[in-house]
Amino acid sequence: MTRPARTVLAGFDTVRTDVENLYRDLHRHPELGLREHRTAGKAAGALRDCGYEVTEGIGGTGVIGVLTNGDGPVVMARADMDALPVRERTGLPYASTATVTDGDGAEQPVMHACGHDVHVACLIGCARLMAGRRDAWRGTFVALFQPSEEQGNGAEAMIDDGLTTKSPRPDVVLAQHVLPYPAGYVGTRTGSFLSAADSLRVTVHGRGAHGSMPQAAVDPVVAAAMIVVRLQTVVSRELAATTPAVVTVGSIHSGSGPNVIPDRAVIELNVRTYDDATRTHVLDAIERIVRAECEASRSPKPPRSSGSPPSRPPSTTRSRPGASRRPSPRTSATTRTPSNRRPPART
Ligand SMILES: [Zn+2]
Repeated sequence: MTRPARTVLAGFDTVRTDVENLYRDLHRHPELGLREHRTAGKAAGALRDCGYEVTEGIGGTGVIGVLTNGDGPVVMARADMDALPVRERTGLPYASTATVTDGDGAEQPVMHACGHDVHVACLIGCARLMAGRRDAWRGTFVALFQPSEEQGNGAEAMIDDGLTTKSPRPDVVLAQHVLPYPAGYVGTRTGSFLSAADSLRVTVHGRGAHGSMPQAAVDPVVAAAMIVVRLQTVVSRELAATTPAVVTVGSIHSGSGPNVIPDRAVIELNVRTYDDATRTHVLDAIERIVRAECEASRSPKPPRSSGSPPSRPPSTTRSRPGASRRPSPRTSATTRTPSNRRPPART
């Protein structure tokens, strides 16, 4: 560790209690993506209290705080703020009991099941330490609090809302995510660290009929079942053993009773990859298999895929010092788009 870093971190004990209390408070009050008003307010208030120039409401609830401290590099550190629609069953004294009403009027539980409360608390602690020892470093420090990481649209919302004109251009961007390491450890490495995540919702069309008359039907249950089985070959038969990737079918729904052949089946799946070429290959393979199985099953119309915005969260890659990295290309909307990410897996 460099001497400036040691000097800044020497103040850790002075902020530790506040950071831990803030973490518990955020954990007790989780907010879903693009609704992180309370969390964003806490972040903005804490940044202002220690002298940052704060801009709020970027892309909805995004916040940046800029601390200018003479000539030197611009370093940005980012924390995501959103929680997940998950019921907390940890039994912790500061467990969440929060709920929200979704678009259908149903009540949904909310929980910081992905650790973004830790990220917010840690970045606020870091921002305070950086402000407290300005004598130990030179440059500009930017603390960025990002909405809606889970749905994959918060970063894009901030960029679309002019983030690049509201923040100095960073030379380095640092992000963090809690992982199941032993307490007190920090993990880092060059290259890919966390995967890109894509979620897809595929509707397979059939033709409904009475259960006793399969000759009058095109059974979407069988078509969906074949798709699920064949999808298992994408990673196992199309990728090298050294190329990591995951294709998981997390949900499959069709029909409502034992004696009716339904007219559609819906499959929801999640894809994890570590580089753009593998990602393209896997998503193309899924599309190919879905279409081919639907055709093989005499599906009366092409399958439909849907999701939320066309952006895809790229994999998290740590550049080698001094190495430049080509940004992930933005992909246009196709039949495969990411939808709401589900817990738990990575981020
Ligand atoms: Zn996360």
